[in-house]
Amino acid sequence: MNFDSFFQQRPPSEQQDAFKEFEATELYCPNCKRAVPVRQRLLLILPDGDEYEYLCAFCSTSVGTKIVRNNKPFHIITG
Ligand SMILES: [Zn+2]
Repeated sequence: MNFDSFFQQRPPSEQQDAFKEFEATELYCPNCKRAVPVRQRLLLILPDGDEYEYLCAFCSTSVGTKIVRNNKPFHIITG
């Protein structure tokens, strides 16, 4: 889901509600010098998971990345 296009299609009052979901994920932005709500952006698709980049919702500075491992069943059979 592309959050940029999602927000552009929403009137401002609904944007405010949508941002509540982001409050759980706040990271420190060195540019804003405070904890900020972040936008998640898919950065890389890795063999064992997806790497996401977090962007400050205010200034779009990158404030961190996270790798979400795939949860598909995976068994290593040794011997
Ligand atoms: Zn910022």
